[in-house]
Formats: sequence, C-alpha cells, structure tokens
Amino acid sequence: MDATFPEEFERLLEIWGEYDDLLNVSQVLDWDEETQMPRSGSAGRADHKATVRRLAHETLTRKELDRILKKLESWEKDQPYDSDQASIVRVARRQYEQAVKVPPRLVSELSRADSEGYHSWLDAREANDFTRFVPALHKIYRLCRELADTLGYEEHPLDALLDQSEPGMKICEVEAIFEELKKDIVPLVDAVSRKEGAVNDAVLHQQFDESKQWSLGLEGVKAIGFNLKEGRADKSVHPFSTAFSPRDVRITSRVFPDFFNPCFFGFLHEAGHGNYMQGIPVKYRRTPLAGGSSSGTHESQSRTWENLVGRSRGFWQGFFPKLQTAFPEQTRGTTPEEWYRAVNKVEPSLIRVEADEVTYSLHIIVRFELEKAVYDEDLKVEELRDAWNEKFRKYLGIVPPTDLVGVLQDIHWSGFFGASFVSYTLGNVMSVQFYEAALREKPGLKDEFAKGDYSGLLDWTRRNVHAHGSKYKPGELMRVVTGQPLSTGPYLGYIKRKFSDIYGL
Ligand code: ZN
Repeated sequence: MDATFPEEFERLLEIWGEYDDLLNVSQVLDWDEETQMPRSGSAGRADHKATVRRLAHETLTRKELDRILKKLESWEKDQPYDSDQASIVRVARRQYEQAVKVPPRLVSELSRADSEGYHSWLDAREANDFTRFVPALHKIYRLCRELADTLGYEEHPLDALLDQSEPGMKICEVEAIFEELKKDIVPLVDAVSRKEGAVNDAVLHQQFDESKQWSLGLEGVKAIGFNLKEGRADKSVHPFSTAFSPRDVRITSRVFPDFFNPCFFGFLHEAGHGNYMQGIPVKYRRTPLAGGSSSGTHESQSRTWENLVGRSRGFWQGFFPKLQTAFPEQTRGTTPEEWYRAVNKVEPSLIRVEADEVTYSLHIIVRFELEKAVYDEDLKVEELRDAWNEKFRKYLGIVPPTDLVGVLQDIHWSGFFGASFVSYTLGNVMSVQFYEAALREKPGLKDEFAKGDYSGLLDWTRRNVHAHGSKYKPGELMRVVTGQPLSTGPYLGYIKRKFSDIYGL
C-alpha cells in the first residue's frame, strides 16, 4: 500500500490480516473435516474449531478497532466511495459494528445449539420423525430470534438476519420478488406437468463408471476455466467449495453410479463458486474485501456455470464428443439435442437439491414462507411439518410421504433458523440479469460455447463481478454491473423461453 496512508489505516490492515488468517485456518479445518478426517477425529476437531473461532471473534471485536475506525472516519469520507481505501474502511466498520453487538455468551450458545441441533436432526432423520427434532429446533429458533433482536432491525426481525448474508437487503423486497416468481412459475409447472412424456431422461439413469464420471467432471471444470493448479477437487458427502486464498481454492463433488447429474453438475456448480474465489484480486488478500459480495451473488456465479452454461444447448453441442468418449455405450443412439433435453427435464419433486431449474424456486419459497410465518408468530415450530406438507401440495402438487423427504431433508435448520434459503433463489435471479448484461457486451457467447470456448464469459465475470471482491453490497453491485436494480424480469423471461421451447408450450 501507498506510504501516505494514515497509520491507523495500516494498523487496520494488520489487525484484519490476523482476523482473516484465523478465518482461513478455520476453513482449512472445515475442509479437512469434510474431505479427509476419520470420523473418530470429530471431538478433537470441534475443540480446534471452537478455539480458532473464538480467537477470530476476539480479534474482530478488539477495542483498538473502535478507536481506529473512529479516527479514520473523516479520511474515509475524503476518498471516493468505490476506492479500495474507502471500501476497506467501510466494510471493516460494518463487520466490526455487527460483531461487537453480539455478546460472547450468545456466540457460544449459538455454537452449542448448532452442534446439538445437528445430532438431534440426525436422530430425527434416523427415526424419520420430525417431532424428535422439535425441542432442538425450538432452542435454535429462540437463539436466532435473540440474535435478530440483538443486531436490531426497523421492520422485521428477519431483516437483521438477512443482512448478514445479503447486506442491505430487506425481507419485504424478498417477499415482493418471490410473489412475482410464484405468479409465473406455478402456472408454468402446471403447463409442463400436462406435457407428460415430452422429455425422456432415461439416458441419465444408467450405470456410469465412477472414475470415468470423476474424470469427465474434471474436464468440465477445466473447460469452464477453474484453475486446478491453484486449487483441488475432492470427494465429499455434500458438495461444497472453499478458499484459503485466491491462489488456493478447493471444490468437491460426489458420484452416484446410476445417475449422471450429481457428479457432473455438482462439479460445474462448485467450480462456478471456485471461479469467483479465484477471480478475487490477490491485492484484496487479508483485507475486508477478500470475499464475495453476498451469498446470493456467490450463488449467481455457481448457477451461471451449472445452468446458464452447463444446461444450455450450446454447451452440449460443444461438450458432447467428450461425453461420448467417456461413455460410448451409454450415449449410443443419443443426439446432443436429446441429451440437452434430458438434463433439462422438469418434474415436481420432493428434494430441493435434485430439483430442476423451473421448480427449484418453489422449494425455496416454501421454506421462506414457513420461516417468516414462525417469526410472525402465525405458526409454531411444532406445526412446521404439517404446514410444509400443505405448501408442497399447493405449489408443487405433491405431498411428502415421510419427514425424511419433507421437512427433515435440509441440514440448514439444524444450526440456524432465519432467512436460511433465500440466497439460493436470489442467486438464480441475479445470474440471468448478469448474464444478459454479458450478452449485451458479447452477443456471440452462445456460439463460443458450441465451440467449447467459455473464456469470453469467464473474462466478463472476472472484470465485472469478481474484480470488486466484497466492495459493494449486492444491490449496489447489480447497479454497477447492469445499471439496473435487481429484477425478476430477465430470470422469468429466460425460464419461460427456455422451457416453452423444450416442452412445446
Ligand atoms: Zn452454491
């Protein structure tokens, strides 16, 4: 950094560097736990993580930071809003002010409720009985509600919690977006359901050699620009991605021997997150700008590569020869067009993570409406199962036969009960708005996909989204990149065009 910066700014960077180191250490521990560690290590690992997280929280809430941030106030105002310097101070202040509001007692109670909740959720899953999870869920809800009250809000307690994952966004905005989605997507699902048999995906449900699936997934990952020389790919039960620096980014996937989608599309999804992490400028390392803009923005990048690219017609025109080489028997007699249709089959289903592009948002809307009803005290925690099943019947026309494929399917509520799912759908909505901006600048992108060249899109996202790190709140970033506020128009237009074409509506 320039030598003319105030010494408080240099000191802020020093403290933040230590805080960021501790966060990254904790992420190394998480990554190892999910990919390498024997199960017998879990008690020891819980201790390691608790200590490192406590140290990180102590570093972020140091009294010295209060003094430093106050001293930097007028200097910050003299810098342009979008300068690195002003942004570093602004983002540091936001995180500091939130962290000091939360008493260490609540931090540790939340962390304990998370561990206990996880085991209670596993027990309830084993018994396939939601009622066993209710006492733990009660406690988690009570603590999350206390967290919301502690952080403070003007309109709705969930605003306080949403602000942690989507800075600057309000629950009433999410509700408006979800209402618009529901209005168009529910009838679209209905129309597609009446075209039964229009798309046959039997070709995806064959035996696929596991190591060949893995290699093909890696070819896909490399094709879309994820740099495996500055990252790694490993197996885990639930796919995820994480970064210890922009030069060390880890992704995972999983393999089902009798179903093509989870490994390949899991890889493209996580490599989409990975591309974002590898695209954060190295100069932001160990600063408050080292992350992405929000969880939803992150999801916009994963969905771009998984769906807008990986489930596009052009992608399969370009990638089909590689698929044929890996699986000559399984693809015999199948055309790229038939494969494209198969990977886009729409079907109301019970499980969120297996949902197609059209029904996915409905899975999220069900969860959000239930969370909000609990916070509004219109619904009790013990009534969640019945309310869940009723909403599935209403929006998707199916009712979960058991809790395991219903209210107990996601891990999220075992550790946190807030606006826990909305970022997934916001990410879908953002992804198309970004993508259309990219297409305005580079109209030939789709032809490039058909030739197996994805560098044009990666270059665009690097310059327009990744380059900013966490400088902007998601709403600000959308305006900077597209000149518009977040809007459902592009996403709904894309969904309706694509699936009317596939289903002949
Ligand atoms: Zn994701």
